Amino acid sequence: MGSCALKRRELLLAGLANAGCTPDAAPLQGGWVGTHPERGHRLRGSELAGADGPLRKAGVLIVGTGIAGLACARALVRRGVDDIALLDLEDQAGGNSRGHSLAGSACPLGAHYLPLPGAEAREVGELMHELGLAREQLGRTVWDERHLCHSPQERLFIDGEWRDGLLPPPQGAAALAQYRRFSAQVARAQRELGFAMPSHRAGWTAGHAALDGQTFAGWLDREGLDDTRLRWYLDYCCRDDFGAGADTVSAWAGLHYFASRHGFHAPGDEAGEREPVLTWAQGNGWLSARLAAPLRERIHLGRTVLRVTEQREGVELLARNEGSGMAERWSARAVVMATPLFVAARLLASPPDALRALSQAHAPWLTANLLLREPLLNRPGAPPSWDNVRYGSTALGYVNARHQALDPTPPPTPLLTAYFALPTASRGDLLAQPWQHWAQVVTAELAATHPDLPAKLARIDLCRFGHAMSIPTPGLRGSAELAALNAQRGRVVFAHSDLAGYSVFEEAYTAGIEASARLSL
Ligand SMILES: Cc1cc2nc3c(=O)[nH]c(=O)nc-3n(C[C@H](O)[C@H](O)[C@H](O)COP(=O)(O)OP(=O)(O)OC[C@H]3O[C@@H](n4cnc5c(N)ncnc54)[C@H](O)[C@@H]3O)c2cc1C
Repeated sequence: MGSCALKRRELLLAGLANAGCTPDAAPLQGGWVGTHPERGHRLRGSELAGADGPLRKAGVLIVGTGIAGLACARALVRRGVDDIALLDLEDQAGGNSRGHSLAGSACPLGAHYLPLPGAEAREVGELMHELGLAREQLGRTVWDERHLCHSPQERLFIDGEWRDGLLPPPQGAAALAQYRRFSAQVARAQRELGFAMPSHRAGWTAGHAALDGQTFAGWLDREGLDDTRLRWYLDYCCRDDFGAGADTVSAWAGLHYFASRHGFHAPGDEAGEREPVLTWAQGNGWLSARLAAPLRERIHLGRTVLRVTEQREGVELLARNEGSGMAERWSARAVVMATPLFVAARLLASPPDALRALSQAHAPWLTANLLLREPLLNRPGAPPSWDNVRYGSTALGYVNARHQALDPTPPPTPLLTAYFALPTASRGDLLAQPWQHWAQVVTAELAATHPDLPAKLARIDLCRFGHAMSIPTPGLRGSAELAALNAQRGRVVFAHSDLAGYSVFEEAYTAGIEASARLSL
């Protein structure tokens, strides 16, 4: 469907008069930013010009500069392994955790927050201290307030008004009882099985495997937890962290979301206050930029790796330099594959059996940064917050990139970043449809809570991630294949959040550090 294919009546209803389809309106400014799907879709590149050109050398090659690749490089440099080259097909390091800039203001492209790391995420905790985000005082961790999400943090649009927090209020005593039962089940899972972040630090028991063998929705059904509002919220949480709903992800994943971090607190529960998260205008791009900065000259961007061949003495790699269109040949003693695992399976000339056998689905995601000309009108209820979600929607809401601004004068117009975890069936449309189509999808979604938004929209930058994150479907987390790839040692090792079966900063960062220790040099 083209940009003008939505019926005119629908456009007018959604207030999209400035979306470029009316003859006298200025066309909507915007476009695709951040990712280059055509690069990722290049084939193995045997036809590449210069494939027999000069050979570059490095001690260790790291394919991918996402959080895992950057963490791995950082750990190697600390061990004194200096001779590293990192290659990435994109033009900016950071993978799914990159920042963007719109009209001179920072905003996220993808990942946008980090919960305060717990005791098991010790490497992440160390990083937070080194970056000056945390310090120890009288035996307590004190966080730098500038980087904690400012209040108000979250609100939900429900029953025609905004309410504090994202949990929909239960309707009646029977519903509240279900909220409380789910809370008790999460606490029981924490106590009896153990859950941790990063997840492998909790160990893996028959109880975990039983949860991993069923969908979260199936488990909730069997527990008699069928309240519509509770189920919408749990589904939203799954889509937000795993890219797919409760009927697709495992019960292990659904419980892990709560049990590994803050638990689940029913309304009225005394421990109900949620801890703030760390966030920045450019989202987790703040973190990736700081991880990348000391690696500067070792990072080679715009290099699409096409083939990695293990040899008797080391590895050889073929990449396409996206600037020149020419081939680049590299050789090294060892290689870290810090790409999604399905990409590693295509790049390696001889992938290990576990990688060949692994079956892992990835969710497509769309993000949109919307620059507004003037502030939005206030609707009744809770004031504009950092994270703003609509009850009943399958979209994930929006954050305001200017929420953390410390200078309140003049009051900044909002710069909104909207998030959409799409069904895997939408991947083709994400690639094929023009940006104007997706701009209309985004604008119509936000217009449901802000009817005045379309007329105030100055520009929309869209970013598409065809294979954004691993969906923790039943059986994946406990699979023999993931266990084998996590244990792989030698000249070729893997470092990516895919190794956890789902994707968050803590998993990616720890995967990168641990991969550096499994590498044979
Ligand atoms: C829209 C979105 C929002 C998110 N929000 C959050 C959040 O708020 N908090 C959170 O903790 N997590 C969030 N995540 C999860 C996020 O994926 C992780 O936090 C983390 O960034 C994953 O890092 P990674 O290194 O495992 O993978 P990736 O980021 O996938 O890195 C892989 C890298 O490999 C490169 N690559 C792939 N193929 C090739 C090739 N052939 N040649 C060269 N390079 C290649 C890619 O370009 C990329 O840079 C979000 C993810 C998305 C997509």
